[in-house]
Amino acid sequence: MKIDFTKSPDNLVPAIVQDNETRKVLMLGYMNEEALNLTRSSGKVTFYSRSKQRLWTKGEESGNYLQLVEVKADCDADALLVYATPQGPTCHTGSDTCWNEENDPNYGFLSQLEGIIADRKALAESKDQAQKPSYVASLFQKGINKIAQKVGEEAVETVIEAKDDNDDLFLNESADLLFHLLILLQAKGYSLQDIVGVLKSRH
Ligand code: AMP
Ligand code: ZN
Ligand code: ZN
Ligand code: ZN
Repeated sequence: MKIDFTKSPDNLVPAIVQDNETRKVLMLGYMNEEALNLTRSSGKVTFYSRSKQRLWTKGEESGNYLQLVEVKADCDADALLVYATPQGPTCHTGSDTCWNEENDPNYGFLSQLEGIIADRKALAESKDQAQKPSYVASLFQKGINKIAQKVGEEAVETVIEAKDDNDDLFLNESADLLFHLLILLQAKGYSLQDIVGVLKSRH
């Protein structure tokens, strides 16, 4: 698609840079046609810096280049989405992103759930037991053997329901299995990210 650089008086279009793998937004910059061409030909994300008033390849001093994966124009070709692989922290402050976020992979709701499970683990370990009772916290208190046993039970229930034709029960037991596996991983000090790492290494 032909990018429309003429909409702004300085012939710049905003370029949002997203990590191709984690899909986190890393930074926002501006590109003119030359910057876009250089980005494509060099494979290193290059902007037109409004403060430096020149082409600026991100990482030119720090070495923290943004390796280009793909550039996409938006619906009316006046804004860019740049998928890239960062070679280090993207922000000059040393932070992974310009919004001071960690560039961890995000598995959506499952990551949210992992966060809640981590909170319950901390609750189980804290001296302050005046909180309202939590099933997950009580599992952590019972220990790894008990949690592993629960995973086994949910696995067997999933197998049983897989043989039936009640989809609702099958989905519920599968959810129980996944949920308890997340708890077991956490109890052993691991996370979904570690499992995805193993899967990817086999790929
Ligand atoms: P770098 O391009 O990483 O070699 O950094 C060179 C200079 O560009 C830094 O000293 C900052 O002034 C500026 N800079 C680097 N990263 C960013 C960023 N993500 N957003 C805005 N300015 C940046
Ligand atoms: Zn647009
Ligand atoms: Zn920054
Ligand atoms: Zn169950």
